[in-house]
Amino acid sequence: MQLLLGFILALVIAFLAFKARSLNTSGAIAAACTGTIIFGIGGFSWAVLLLAFFITSSALSRAFKKRKQGLDEKFSKGHERDAGQVLANGGIATLFAALNYFFPHQPWTWVGFAASLAAVNADTWATELGVLNPHPPRMITNLMKTVEKGTSGGISLVGTLASLTGSAVIALLATLLPPTGSPSTDRWSLFILVTLAGLAGSLFDSLLGGTVQAMYFCPTDHKETEKHPLHSCGTPTVHIRGWKWLDNDWVNLSCGAFGAVMALLPFLV
Ligand SMILES: [Zn+2]
Repeated sequence: MQLLLGFILALVIAFLAFKARSLNTSGAIAAACTGTIIFGIGGFSWAVLLLAFFITSSALSRAFKKRKQGLDEKFSKGHERDAGQVLANGGIATLFAALNYFFPHQPWTWVGFAASLAAVNADTWATELGVLNPHPPRMITNLMKTVEKGTSGGISLVGTLASLTGSAVIALLATLLPPTGSPSTDRWSLFILVTLAGLAGSLFDSLLGGTVQAMYFCPTDHKETEKHPLHSCGTPTVHIRGWKWLDNDWVNLSCGAFGAVMALLPFLV
């Protein structure tokens, strides 16, 4: 019964997001599938965390559009998320919701779920709000080196504070809305654990972006870009650094995975 309700809710939300142009067709199908698992197997608390991520990140993508004009060049995809982006952001969370079916009422499934969403939320907030920083960001691998806004691997004080806030919002919801049947552990240590794990995930994302993520160059615009095979101007882009298979989607998936692993470390000892 909960699975059916979850499916209907996921379908409605995916359709609304499609209509609002937050998701394209493949993105809406992927969101309906991940939503069904998270709402249907997880339940109310799980749905609230996923929606908090989805709604705030979609809203921030739309906000400050003028400030970001010209910067969108650097980001490989537009505001409409496709299936790759949906699975990159929600894949790890979906995995933990599915694990909850096999290991019901285990605190670690909730912690892993929350931390992976805190990480991708932190990363999205940093990306969207970091561009408001008046100063150019610095490379995470070399803090003495300033880079153009929007460069993968660039970090700033504003971006990092945005990241911390994005993570803390998810952590707070995870602390206030523990799933029914979960044992009441120390609530504030859960809040701090998930917040720090989410921040760590987004810093890991920047580290990959500044080192091994695939980067390309557009010979027409003389710009570094994540876009491949074609730049937004239509010119084929040339690979300049990083592992070719490690695109932005794999980096985002790693961000969520790293956040979850960090938060689950205390459960291993
Ligand atoms: Zn170009």
